[in-house]
Amino acid sequence: MLLSDRNKVMLKAVTRCLWSNPVAGRRKMSHHISPNLSGRVAIVTASTDGIGLAAAEALGQRGAHVVVSSRRQANVDKAVSLLRSKNIKVIGTTCNVGKAEDRDKLINLTIEQCGGVDILVSNAAVNPFFGNILESTEEVWDKILGVNVKASFLLTKQVVPHMEKRGGGSVVIVSSVAGYQPMQGLGPYSVSKTALLGLTKALAPDLAHSNIRINCVAPGIIKTRFSAALWENESMLEEFLKQTSIKRLGQPEDIGGVIAFLCSDEASYITGETITVTGGMNCRL
Ligand code: NAP
Repeated sequence: MLLSDRNKVMLKAVTRCLWSNPVAGRRKMSHHISPNLSGRVAIVTASTDGIGLAAAEALGQRGAHVVVSSRRQANVDKAVSLLRSKNIKVIGTTCNVGKAEDRDKLINLTIEQCGGVDILVSNAAVNPFFGNILESTEEVWDKILGVNVKASFLLTKQVVPHMEKRGGGSVVIVSSVAGYQPMQGLGPYSVSKTALLGLTKALAPDLAHSNIRINCVAPGIIKTRFSAALWENESMLEEFLKQTSIKRLGQPEDIGGVIAFLCSDEASYITGETITVTGGMNCRL
C-alpha cells in the first residue's frame, strides 16, 4: 500500500505522540558545565534553600564567586558549607532584604571580600497572608510589597554603581506564574509578582545605558518549602498538574539553570524580558 504524502506526515505525528512518554521534560544531567561565569561575583538573595540555593549553585558551577544570604545565620552556615563541599567559591551573611541595614551589610561585605559585583539575583519573597483578598490588611500589603517589590528595586539601585565600575552586569528578579494569573487565596502576593514584571520592564532601558541587563524568571509550581501548601495536598497537586504539559512538579534546579543562563553572555541581547519556567502552564497577562 502506498501512503500519500499527507498520510505520511500524519503517521509521523502520531508516532511522535506515542513515543513521548509521561515523564517528558525529565532533566538529563550534564556533567560538563562550561565555566562561562568565571571571574564574576554574584549576589543571590534568599539563597539558603529552594530556588535561591539552586541559583547560587548553578552560578557557582559556572565559575562565579557567589554570595549567599538569608535571615538566619544557621541557614547561611549550612548553605555555605554545602556549596563549598561542591567546590564552589562562596561566602555568606545574614540579610533580611526588607531591612535597609541588612541590604547595606550584604553589598559592603561583597565589595570588601569579593572586590566588586557583576550579578544580582533578587529572589527573596514573603507571603504572610492566605485568604480572601478583601480581608487583607494594610500591614499585609506593606510587608508583601516592601519585601517582594521595594527591596528588589532598592537592591538593584544599590548595585548599579558597583556594576558600572566593572563595565556592566546582569540582574535577575524572581517573579512567579502567579504574577500572570493571580492564585486563589494569594491575591496580594500575586499582585506583588505582577509588579516585578513591570519593574523589570521599567528598569531595562535605564540600566542598558550602564551595560546592565535585567530580566525576570517566573517559575510555575516548584517543589520547595515555600510552596508546600500547594503540593502536599494530593487533590490540589492533581489540579495543578492538569494545567501543565510536563506532568511533574518543577525542581529548584529547573529554575537555577535558567537564571544562570540569563546572567551569562549567551543572553547578551536579552533584557526587560520574563522567562516563564512552568512545565507548560498557560501564562499571559
Ligand atoms: P524556599 O525554598 O522556602 O526558600 C526561601 C528562602 O528565602 C530561604 O533561604 C529563606 O531563608 C529565605 N528568606 C525568606 N524570607 C526572607 C527575607 N525576608 N530576606 C531574605 N531571605 C529570606 O522558597 P522558594 O520556593 O525557593 O522561593 C524563592 C522565590 O521563588 C520566591 O521569590 C518565591 O516567590 C518564588 N517562587 C516560588 C515558587 C514555588 O513554587 N516554590 C513558584 C514561583 C515563584 P531564611 O528563613 O533563613 O530567611
